Amino acid sequence: MPTKPPTISSGPATGWMLDGACLNLWWLPWIDNPRHVALDEVRLMRRTCASCPVLDTCAGFVAEQRVTAGFWAGRWRSLWALYRPDRPAAAKKASRVA
Ligand code: SF4
Repeated sequence: MPTKPPTISSGPATGWMLDGACLNLWWLPWIDNPRHVALDEVRLMRRTCASCPVLDTCAGFVAEQRVTAGFWAGRWRSLWALYRPDRPAAAKKASRVA
C-alpha cells in the first residue's frame, strides 16, 4: 500500500521580519534582560516599533507564537505578559477615565 511521504512543517512565516524597522537598529538591546536596559534605549525601541511598517504583523506573530522574551511590537514580552493581552490605545484611555 503506497503511503504519502512525511510532510515537513516549515514553521511560521517570518519573511515579514525583513521589513522590520529593528533591522536597521540591530545594536539596540532587543533581546537583553529588561533589567539591564537603559530607559533611553527602551524609549528608542518603543518609537522604532511605533513607526514600524510591520507592527501589526509583528504583534500578531508574538501573540500567535506566544513569545515570552525580548522586546517585540512595542513592549517587553514575558511569560506573565502572555496573560495580559495587547489592548487598543482607545481602550486603554477609556479604562483610565472610568
Ligand atoms: S514592531 Fe518592533 S520588534 Fe516588531 S519588527 Fe517592527 S521594529 Fe521589530
